Amino acid sequence: MSIWNLIFPKKCVFCREFISGGENVFCPVCEAKYEQMKRAFCKHCGRENALCRCVATKLRPLDIRISERHLFAYEGEFARAIIYKLKRKNAADLQKFLAHECAALVREGVRSGEKAVISYPPRAHSAVREYGFDQAQILARNVAEITQLPLAEIFCRGEGGKAQKTLTAKEREENAGKAYFLTDGADVGGKTLVIIDDVVTSGSTAARLSALAKEGGAKRIVLVSVAKT
Ligand SMILES: [Zn+2]
Ligand SMILES: [Zn+2]
Repeated sequence: MSIWNLIFPKKCVFCREFISGGENVFCPVCEAKYEQMKRAFCKHCGRENALCRCVATKLRPLDIRISERHLFAYEGEFARAIIYKLKRKNAADLQKFLAHECAALVREGVRSGEKAVISYPPRAHSAVREYGFDQAQILARNVAEITQLPLAEIFCRGEGGKAQKTLTAKEREENAGKAYFLTDGADVGGKTLVIIDDVVTSGSTAARLSALAKEGGAKRIVLVSVAKT
C-alpha cells in the first residue's frame, strides 16, 4: 500500500468498503458481481453483454446507420443499484470508472481518423433541479476526456419535457418527441455522432436523438450506454 493510500484510503466505488490500493476500483464482492453482470448473456442474441450489438426495435426503422453497445443489462439488484447511484449521487469515482468502461466501447465503435463527436441526452430540467447534476452530461464529458474526442452540446431539452422515468412506454415516446431538440448551431454534418447515455430503456429517447442527428446531417450513430433493458 502506498503512502497515498494510507492518507487517502481507497474505497470501493460502489459500496464504499475500504480496499487495498493498486488498480482495483471495487471491493472483491462488488468486483465479482460486476464481472458476472458484464459476462451475463443478452436475452435477445445470446451473446455476452460486452459483445451484444442488438439494436433497440425503435431504432431499426430510422434511415441512418446505428450501432449500439452497452456494459450490462438493466436487470437484477446490482445493476439497478449502480444506476440508482449514478442518477442520484454525484459520485466522481463511480462516474469516472463507468466512463472508462464506456470509453472502451466508444473506441471499438469509432474508427481511428473518423470524424466523430460525443454528445448525450440532457436530463430533464426538473430532475437537474432535484438532484443537482446531469449524470449523462458528466458521463459524456468524462468519456470525451478519456477518448480525446470532442464533446458537443448537440441536443437541448424543452422546458416542458417530463422526466422519462415517470412515464409509460407510450407516454415516453410522445414525451421524447417533445422533449429534445437540436441546439442552434449543432454541428454534426458528415460526422459520426456518439451518443452516451446511462440507461437505454424503450429506445424512445435514442430514436428521437438519432432522428434529430440525421436531420442535422450526421453520417451515423454510435449509441453507448451503461445499461440496457
Ligand atoms: Zn464494494
Ligand atoms: Zn444482444
